[in-house]
Amino acid sequence: MATITKLLVANRGEIARRVMRTCRAMGIDTTAVYSEADVDAPFVHEATDAVPLGGRRPGDSYLRIDRIIEAARTAGCDAVHPGYGFLSENAEFAEACAEAGIVFVGPSPRVIELMASKTAARSLMQQAGVPVVPGWHPDGGSSVPPADVVASLRYPLLVKASYGGGGRGMRIVEDAADLEAALVAAEREADAAFGNGAVFIERYIPSARHIEVQIFGDSHGNVIHLFERECSIQRRHQKVVEEAPAPNLPSDVRERLHRAAVEAGRALGYEGAGTVEFILAPDGEFYFLEVNTRLQVEHPVTEAVTGLDLVRLQLLVAEGRPLPQEAYDAAVVGHAIEARLCAEDPARDYAPQPGTVHRFEIPQGGGVRLDSGVEAGSEVTVDYDPMLAKVIAWAPSRAEAARVLRRALRDARIHGVVTNRDLLVGILGHADFEAGQVDTSFLDRVPPATLLGATAPDEAALRCAALAAVLARQATRRRQAAILQAVPSGWRNNPSALQREDVAMGDRVLTVEYRLGAAYRVDGATVDAEVVATAPDAVDIVVDGIRRAFLVTQEGDQLFVDAPWGSVAFGVAPRFADADDDGVRGSLAAPMPGTVVSVTAAAGDRVSAGDVVVVLEAMKMEHAIRTPSDGVIADVLVAVGDRVDVGTVLAVVDDEAEEVADAG
Ligand code: ADP
Ligand code: ADP
Ligand code: MG
Repeated sequence: MATITKLLVANRGEIARRVMRTCRAMGIDTTAVYSEADVDAPFVHEATDAVPLGGRRPGDSYLRIDRIIEAARTAGCDAVHPGYGFLSENAEFAEACAEAGIVFVGPSPRVIELMASKTAARSLMQQAGVPVVPGWHPDGGSSVPPADVVASLRYPLLVKASYGGGGRGMRIVEDAADLEAALVAAEREADAAFGNGAVFIERYIPSARHIEVQIFGDSHGNVIHLFERECSIQRRHQKVVEEAPAPNLPSDVRERLHRAAVEAGRALGYEGAGTVEFILAPDGEFYFLEVNTRLQVEHPVTEAVTGLDLVRLQLLVAEGRPLPQEAYDAAVVGHAIEARLCAEDPARDYAPQPGTVHRFEIPQGGGVRLDSGVEAGSEVTVDYDPMLAKVIAWAPSRAEAARVLRRALRDARIHGVVTNRDLLVGILGHADFEAGQVDTSFLDRVPPATLLGATAPDEAALRCAALAAVLARQATRRRQAAILQAVPSGWRNNPSALQREDVAMGDRVLTVEYRLGAAYRVDGATVDAEVVATAPDAVDIVVDGIRRAFLVTQEGDQLFVDAPWGSVAFGVAPRFADADDDGVRGSLAAPMPGTVVSVTAAAGDRVSAGDVVVVLEAMKMEHAIRTPSDGVIADVLVAVGDRVDVGTVLAVVDDEAEEVADAG
């Protein structure tokens, strides 16, 4: 039996901190490894010591097996925890650890290898009697199925990358006529994204639920389950809100899912933490999707309802100990919900939002847990995925957990980068969510605009926020010019004159007007406000008989107002230019910083409005840049692999209309 005394965490962000937390509790020293982009990240400072890996890109840092093994040797680590993503499901890495005599916290390289291929996993599960989604996969041969198979397939279908992950590399095919083209395109994409072009076909199950089962195995042949998680709220096939237990799940289906997952684990001789993912069709049938051979992003909901520390269990099992009794005794108590807080703008097709997080305060305690990768001052870069933190709420009932989580998110003060916070609040308050009516098409059925609209402050609240922003700005000025401190709560000088001050909200300007002895007017409407106190960072006003505190932060030319009903950022200029209305007419500009992953048009090509010209990757997501009008490509200015900044011209399209005009 090995004893882990010092553990290298081969990951970054919130999961690195999460693993270190348990290590501290177990008296295990830790070594962080970090890229150039993470030199000052919180996880680096929380480790016992740290070793730099090099470059910003994952390929130069967190994916460098050689450097990580070397770092473990140098720092004297006897174990490595891979977290999730990066090398966590890389059999070569697990093997390299074994060869170096370092304990890899995870299953054996054999199991990782077996489950890395979704098609191999499907075959194995079928043999073990676990139902898989009806589908077809090539056995080394052509990726286009033979005619008899094609004839037997029921549409819609889903073309998936065999080595895909993170919700990427999937396309829905509605019609037989589109199948071959979709397969070819998917192969190309899979090759570029995962270094392996293998694809396969599954029946696409609409309005399905994603339910997964946490399993745990030890080196003594024991495999148990730790109940299920519901992960149906997804955007682009990636989880956004997760919970345990799954709501509205008939107890017989629940038991069958648990049993199937344990059978899958036994068939594999599974060791460590794993997740067996299933899709539950509306008719109550469930099918195996894949096994994730690692700790899952959403593991905290399982911890919250069972009271177990899954990282501790991972470490015990990795040391060769049998699963402790409390794992067998575990029961589900109450309900837990997790929300993934991401630096992305749901109103702009989830565009990633790199930048500096000036303030990051999320209330904890009272059933709320925060697993965060960032803190005030952190830099969010385009090099890694956009998840900033996970907020997890536990309560005796599902309705209470949702309410507690919603309240925590609304009370959060997050400044500097746009996040999906309001979308999360909208989801948690939606009637379907409240009723437990969730499936993977929830965010298609209930678009972000609807959810954001439902959570946005109403006009009256907005006027109060604008007033608070202006009063705080004045308080700042008063403090700066002590000589004017005697001036009443109103304006700088000559208080009897009409004073005006603007704040901007996107394209909209709100004007605050005040004259001594008269009511405030905001955006043309009278606001019957009585000022209780003003300071540069807080304004206390009574409006229509209700007293509220508005917390104000002035950061550069931005004013953030946090109030009980939510938050408003004033004076914020749009972070990214819209690809459709970029400066140079006819030119396609990058709407975000990123890397060019494909160029699908060449100079001279005739294109129609909406055609994809370039595909950018930023924060692990692909963004297609489309031509806004019909025309001819005059020039393509970037190549695959180029790093581009916001506004970089990617291609120039000669407008059809212009051509006609020129000809005339
Ligand atoms: P889960 O929620 O099932 O744990 P996710 O889909 O959220 O899994 O993936 C976990 C993390 O790993 C995310 O940060 C995701 O972006 C990343 N990830 C998983 N697989 C891949 C992959 N093949 N390529 C890039 N990133 C991946
Ligand atoms: P990844 O490795 O990217 O996590 P998965 O196979 O786990 O890939 O699928 C991710 C998500 O895509 C699922 O949670 C589900 O929402 C959707 N999905 C996958 N396969 C199907 C299918 N056959 N029918 C409907 N939705 C699917
Ligand atoms: Mg999955």
